[in-house]
Amino acid sequence: MIIVLKRNASPESAERLLERIAAAGLQPLHMPGSERVVLGALGDERVLADLALDGDPDVESVKPILAPYKLVSRELHAHDTIVRIGGVAIGGAQLAVIAGPCAVETPDQLRASAEAARAAGATILRAGAYKPRTSPYGFSGHGPAGLAILREVGDALGMPVVTEVMDTADIDLVAEHADALQIGARNMHNFALLRAVGRAGRPVVLKRGLSARIEELLLAAEYLLASGNDQVVLCERGIRTFETATRNTLDLNAVPYIKQRTHLPVIVDPSHGTGLRELVAPMALAAIACGADGLMIEVHRDPAAALSDGAQSLYPDQFAALMQAVAPVAQAVGRSL
Ligand code: PEP
Ligand code: MN
Repeated sequence: MIIVLKRNASPESAERLLERIAAAGLQPLHMPGSERVVLGALGDERVLADLALDGDPDVESVKPILAPYKLVSRELHAHDTIVRIGGVAIGGAQLAVIAGPCAVETPDQLRASAEAARAAGATILRAGAYKPRTSPYGFSGHGPAGLAILREVGDALGMPVVTEVMDTADIDLVAEHADALQIGARNMHNFALLRAVGRAGRPVVLKRGLSARIEELLLAAEYLLASGNDQVVLCERGIRTFETATRNTLDLNAVPYIKQRTHLPVIVDPSHGTGLRELVAPMALAAIACGADGLMIEVHRDPAAALSDGAQSLYPDQFAALMQAVAPVAQAVGRSL
């Protein structure tokens, strides 16, 4: 419920109402605005109705939050949330570009790939130390050793780093090494992981599940916010459809749909979204044109030798050309690089 207080309502009345909400076992939210104080109450709809807050003398109106996701919704929080990963802001006028190889392979491989990404204008480094692989025989990442390499390269190049965490048991170690935690597509529905990552005190990049509807992605984000973390970046990375020409079908509809309904930033990953190197640049441009707040792109110094996702990884010169091409598209939609 959204509870709008009367213009002359005092801070004490807001406090009193928040206490009533909490005493009923509901989650109280305080959202002071420039004109009015707005309160929120989250929880069981019947308990909310029994509180009859609309009869309170300090309350102007009470309206339900219609969306099933509440904290994520613009109904509750109208302004864009800016997420900060290291010193980089995501969700403002400036686009954020996260780039790097699929996985941390060796110190040299990561460093050369990261240097190329940074030289072309990427501001956040990505690379996985824990890799979710379809086959148990695929390269599944170097784990803790990979995290150490990632941190070292990030520090050496002055780039914040984002990396995937797959297991609640690894959260503390990953959070110690990374500036932001990625929840991968395969774990978007892992509710225990979502709750625990929500409490880890790091920004989160939440990827859309392979077969997740947009509403399910937003409800997964709700888990993170409900655990006390509003520093969440949503990532459209393609969904599985009947189409087999591409690895996934990049659902760019999701970008404006999500931006209209939520205050969280949305980035697009055309690498996993297409699976084909030649399609990454055109879909990256399309993503920026339709309002994405940034990109996540796989770049490898030598994609032919990559231990994972080589076919969709850009060569350094392709990534540099893409960054050049993004600039005028960004400008056309009122954004900058
Ligand atoms: C990745 O970013 O390398 C990755 C595994 O992504 P996704 O979870 O979207 O497949
Ligand atoms: Mn990958």
